[in-house]
Amino acid sequence: MRKLNNIRKQKHIALIAHDNMKKSLINWVKENKEELSKHFLCGTGTTSKLISEETSLPVRAYESGPLGGDQQIGCAIVEGKIDFMIFFWDPLSSHPHDPDVKALLRIAVLYDIPVAMNESTANFLLKSRYMEEDYIR
Ligand code: PGA
Repeated sequence: MRKLNNIRKQKHIALIAHDNMKKSLINWVKENKEELSKHFLCGTGTTSKLISEETSLPVRAYESGPLGGDQQIGCAIVEGKIDFMIFFWDPLSSHPHDPDVKALLRIAVLYDIPVAMNESTANFLLKSRYMEEDYIR
């Protein structure tokens, strides 16, 4: 059983993008494919499927976000199965599952996992020395 407060060197990274942001996330994953291939990837349904198709990286798919995928990812954070999240949410649209998005972001903050919500932050996180070692939350 993994210790809940230990973010291991090999991280469990959740990838999520709202529809208008999917292209940006896929491009970012392509640019960082080598680094990301060292970790376990998962994500909401459509985002995972597109990333797998476009990059050939294995991405474990949860349900689609609007169908409960965000809640599943929040649950996995609580259970210590996800310890890192890249979530490109759309700042210019509202969604039927906005309450789920808010809940997921709350859980991510509560459990103190690294979260990137835009490309610059994702780049800064990926260059962090903590990507190469364990980190105790
Ligand atoms: P999707 O979900 O990857 O299934 O499109 C993302 C979201 O809208 O939360």
